[in-house]
This record gives sequence, structure tokens and C-alpha cells, in this order.
Amino acid sequence: MNEKNILKELEDIVGKDFASNSSGDLYIYSQDPGASIPRPADFVVMPYTPKEVQDIMKLANRERIPIVPMGGGLTLSGLVIPVKGGIVMDMKRMNKIIEVNELSRFALVEAGVTSGQLLAYLNENHPKLQPPIPDAPPSVTIAGNALIHGSGYLSQKFGDHGAMINGLEVVLPDGELYKLGSCAVSDYWFTRGPIPDFIGLFISSFGTLGIVTKLSIKLFPKPKMRDIVFGLCKDPYVLPELISNITFTDVAEDILLGIQDKPDWMKGYTFIIVYITGESEEELNNKTKILKKMYRKAKSRYMKVPKR
Ligand SMILES: Cc1cc2nc3c(=O)[nH]c(=O)nc-3n(C[C@H](O)[C@H](O)[C@H](O)COP(=O)(O)OP(=O)(O)OC[C@H]3O[C@@H](n4cnc5c(N)ncnc54)[C@H](O)[C@@H]3O)c2cc1C
Repeated sequence: MNEKNILKELEDIVGKDFASNSSGDLYIYSQDPGASIPRPADFVVMPYTPKEVQDIMKLANRERIPIVPMGGGLTLSGLVIPVKGGIVMDMKRMNKIIEVNELSRFALVEAGVTSGQLLAYLNENHPKLQPPIPDAPPSVTIAGNALIHGSGYLSQKFGDHGAMINGLEVVLPDGELYKLGSCAVSDYWFTRGPIPDFIGLFISSFGTLGIVTKLSIKLFPKPKMRDIVFGLCKDPYVLPELISNITFTDVAEDILLGIQDKPDWMKGYTFIIVYITGESEEELNNKTKILKKMYRKAKSRYMKVPKR
């Protein structure tokens, strides 16, 4: 089938405004903000429903056209740039937060829901809960991040975000739609069981095995208070043991290490930022004391962070 007919079929599925093969529209879909060399896409399509995703997959399967699904497109490693042309399926229009279950602590979202969107929604409607999101711009999607084993500030304690998926709805290359996890046998999206766990097949396979249309992601209790405990370490060889000791205690929510030459007093040091959380000032103070002691033992300096 020629390009014109394929575009017409895509337009029939999603509507004229949401399928294109114009060079202007395709420009941003042929590259990402990373260092990968641009590679051209032939079509971009923006589905709104799982049924539309199914119809696009059936068309692509019939015509043997490659498909690359795209969330925020911010993985910076060429993952959403087509290798052999074809269709980029931009998931942005599938942006509904379908359910937040406080009791079982999960959010059921469509594949285009962004981390900023879910965070803002929870802050407003479920302020006691927090989502597992990366330290990336808020336009990245919950799906795109979890599906690459992404990580964030909760990962030190709870694991990578792929492990936090409770259930998936996914369209396979032949257009069949499947549910995986407890949602396959009930209306509840709270666990990967009780059936065999096929969810891993769709994590870090970069959309090659199917397009995820919905996913359930675990949510976590949000502590009342947070703070950081800053340290400077001269000898990098003590760091592995120091970090291991800190993570052994369950004091840290997250840990960040870095090196920078400016301001001058940071030159020659590794800085350590330990993120701590708690329900009271007293809890934060106790955690700070424990960390100060550990820094001292590792011949590192605790530094008070100036109040902003
Ligand atoms: C400043 C900055 C900071 C960052 N910090 C972090 C961080 O702290 N932790 C971290 O993990 N990452 C980080 N990243 C990397 C990246 O931005 C994130 O991992 C991001 O969450 C990826 O989500 P995305 O929506 O951009 O995914 P995309 O790039 O759109 O997609 C990622 C992969 O998933 C596939 N995919 C997307 N949607 C679907 C779908 N519906 N079905 C099937 N496959 C799909 C894509 O084809 C691609 O292979 C950072 C990036 C930047 C620019």
C-alpha cells in the first residue's frame, strides 16, 4: 500500500488532526534531546483509546510497518527514534488518571499520563500518597519510565519502578489486547498475581513486544517532613562502606553523591547528600545525629545547609 493510503487509514482510525506524514510534524519525532543521530519517521499517530491502538497495530502488522511507541521521549538514548522508519505512536492523548486506590495504594493510569500530572493530582486529591517518579522533567510518562526499569527517590528503599507495576493492559503486535496481573481475573489492579507474571516481558523490551495502554503503579505513604544531611568526603575509598552502612540503617530515603569544583571549598571533595524523611522534627533530628556520627567515622565532614 502506498503512503497516501496508509495515512488515510491512520486518519480514519484516529481522526485527521492526529495522524500526519508532513515533514514539519515529523521533525521532532526523528530525534530526541540526547546525542543520537536523527533517524526519519514516516508517520506520527496519536491514539486516544485502546481500540485505536489495536486498529493501528492491525494496520501496521498487515502492512509490515515498524511502530515505535513514545511517552515523553526523554530517555535521551535514541529509544524513541525509529530505526527503520515507520510509525511513531505518540501516547500523549491517552492521559486519563482512571483510579487512585488509597486502601491498596495504587494508581491506574493511561500510558500518556505524565509524572508531573500524577504528582499534582495526588498532591491535590490524595495528599498522603506519593508516586514512584524519576528525577526527570515532569513531562516524562509514568509508563515510559517504569517500562525501562526507571528509578527515582524511592528506589533506594523500594526498588526500581519496573518492580512497582501491579498490572498492565497491553496491545500485542497482532492487535490483540491483554490484561496482565490481578486485573486479568478481577476488576482490581492491586497485584501482579495470582496468575503467572508476564509483565517482565514488557519491561525494557522498548515497545517491541507490545504497546502498553494502561498500567497500575504502586503508591507510597508520603512522610510529613523531609530534610537533607550534607557531607563532604576527602577519601573516595571510604565511600562504598559509608554508603553501605547508611543503607543498612534504613535512615536514608535517597542518597546522592557528586563532585564539583565550584564553589572553591568543594574542590577535591565528594559531596554526599542524604535525603531523610520523618513524621516529626524529633525524628529528623535523630536521623541527622545518626548520619553525622557515620560521616565522622568515615572521616567525612557534616555541613549545615544554609536555610533558603
Ligand atoms: C534531566 C533528566 C533527568 C533524568 N533523571 C532520571 C531519573 O532520575 N531516573 C530515571 O529513571 N530516568 C531519568 N531520566 C531519563 C528519562 O527521562 C526517564 O527515564 C523518563 O522517565 C522516561 O520516560 P519517557 O516518558 O520520556 O519515556 P520515552 O523515552 O518516551 O520511552 C521510553 C521507552 O519506553 C517505550 N515506551 C514508551 N511508552 C510506551 C508504551 N505505552 N508501551 C510500550 N513501550 C513504551 C519507548 O518506546 C522507549 O523505548 C532523566 C532524564 C533527564 C532529561
